[in-house]
Amino acid sequence: MKINILDSNVIDKIAAGEVVERPASVIKELVENSIDAKASSITVEIKEGGKKLIRVTDNGIGIESSEVKKAFIRHATSKIETEEDLNGIISLGFRGEALASIAAVSQVELITKTKDQTVGRRVVIKGGEFTIDEECGAPDGTTLIASELFYNVPARKKFMKSDTTETSEITEIVSKLALAHPEIAFKLISNGKAILHTAGDDLLKNAIYYVYGKELTKEIVDIDEVQNEIKVSGFIGRPVIQRATRIYENFFVNGRYIKSRVLEEAVEEAFYGYVMKGKFPFCVLSLEIEPELIDINVHPAKTEIRFKDENLVYETVTKIIKNKLAGLDNSILVSLKTSMEEKLERAEEIKEQREESSKAPDAMLSPNKFLDKKKENIKDDIKEVTKEETEDIIKTIFTQSTLYDESNSIPSVAISSDEAEYEDATNALPLRDYKVIGQLFNTYFLVEEGENFYLIDQHAAKEKVNYELLKKAYENKSVNSQVLLEPIIVNVTGKEKEVIDSHIEEINRFGFDIEEFGPDSFRIKEVPFIFEKIPTEEMFHEMIDELLDKKLSKELKTFDDMFATVACKASLKANDKQSVMEGESLIRQLMELENPFNCPHGRPVIVALTKYEIEKKFKRII
Ligand code: ADP
Ligand code: MG
Repeated sequence: MKINILDSNVIDKIAAGEVVERPASVIKELVENSIDAKASSITVEIKEGGKKLIRVTDNGIGIESSEVKKAFIRHATSKIETEEDLNGIISLGFRGEALASIAAVSQVELITKTKDQTVGRRVVIKGGEFTIDEECGAPDGTTLIASELFYNVPARKKFMKSDTTETSEITEIVSKLALAHPEIAFKLISNGKAILHTAGDDLLKNAIYYVYGKELTKEIVDIDEVQNEIKVSGFIGRPVIQRATRIYENFFVNGRYIKSRVLEEAVEEAFYGYVMKGKFPFCVLSLEIEPELIDINVHPAKTEIRFKDENLVYETVTKIIKNKLAGLDNSILVSLKTSMEEKLERAEEIKEQREESSKAPDAMLSPNKFLDKKKENIKDDIKEVTKEETEDIIKTIFTQSTLYDESNSIPSVAISSDEAEYEDATNALPLRDYKVIGQLFNTYFLVEEGENFYLIDQHAAKEKVNYELLKKAYENKSVNSQVLLEPIIVNVTGKEKEVIDSHIEEINRFGFDIEEFGPDSFRIKEVPFIFEKIPTEEMFHEMIDELLDKKLSKELKTFDDMFATVACKASLKANDKQSVMEGESLIRQLMELENPFNCPHGRPVIVALTKYEIEKKFKRII
């Protein structure tokens, strides 16, 4: 195929910007070239996160010997010729920049052969010069090796992240490309180990299986519809699949993987009411649309496009997915995770941790990758600002253990009693002008305000907030419920049944929906709004025990223990990574309460240390 050098008129029309930012962007460009070359098999090999070596091998059409050198000239492309061609691009590439850019910042070797030629061609470029240009034996197709990325651009080199992070990015991009092209067999090999392999059997469901695994693939349903001359096909997850980030929303337009706010919003609108607030659905959606109705020439990496009629695309996608969802078993309004799913996620997490420690990251298997990253950043912030100080303080606190004194009459805020003449931290509460510094042991929020330092137990705080919310809603007879995805069946003893029967009204007023289900069981269809996780059967037994124990009267006051039990079971436990932002919102809610200091079970929620005490520990004050 002939490679044209674009004239400056066309070049000026191409969105300007760098295409090569990091190993993953090199790989994206190279793999897209292989896809444009009609390859049915593409292998990507990397070493050290692609920093040391990137090798992309395909069995595509190859480059004719006479054209090989031209391919490395900037704005040389076989894919378009004139300005008009920009309006109807069907290939992934069209800018003619990738090979030139890659060769400018790494050492490149290219081996290629077309079907019609008997021998192939091999070129090596170092420091922008062709150091080797020779005939060589080669299979049909192209292999491109880029090594020592950014060896001559120290500024860029510094910007590359750890091998693990770069490998995750690469895995993600190769996964997306594999999902966009189920007809191509993709293989990704990192440091000699295969980390992704798709079959190339042209079945999208199989590609999803290879990328996301068996459990997720069980819960997807296919979409294939044409409306308003837009074809929407692919798969969506049943509402049972709810993820913490948008990373599981995949969009392809005319075979190109893209990021699109419009499409994200369209899908999320369709899933509204099916997916809990703050959670995101799964989808792999392909749109086929007249090339004239989109503009892909808006972003140098071509990952963003512009729809000429955004509203039409939005409405079409929303409608198609909404219809599909409406056709599914629709007894679910709000779905919580099933305990099975939770177990699976846990298993996945453990697997991830293991993989991460053996340095074989797999970005696509990490449902919380973006979140984790965010948390990494937050951790970094803490490191910069207060790492040493905080570490020291905490060590001192815990070795001297004056933080919480069991005998203290105000257990909520325990300061060492011998310093009573000094400003009691309780006087400073509730916190107003505070700063959440971070999270400790995934369990405590660290908060500073003026001359005080506070540790806030996140579970106790959450429990307290939920307890008060539930209590207030109960008093107002307005406890909202959430429908369980799968009703919970609880087997009960005769005694338990009796107590439930006699309190069924109150229990339902709590926000539960409990009904008899056979002679010795109950079915729970709804739980109070405060539940952040799926309740277990044990929780209900505990709740019923509470009723049995107290020989509950119908007086509201005596419900306190039940509120407490329910709030406790509904709330997140310790060992739950939370961001500073989450901490801030929780503490804000907590500070609105009359008594933020104790959890419903009476345990302290907040412990405090004054600056004075800290300085004493460090012998700054004697
Ligand atoms: P673009 O993809 O925008 O055309 P590139 O710099 O990526 O620009 O590639 C330049 C040209 O080299 C392409 O237009 C194509 O003709 C040729 N080429 C690059 N990679 C391959 C490949 N793997 N197989 C066949 N031809 C290729
Ligand atoms: Mg290209």
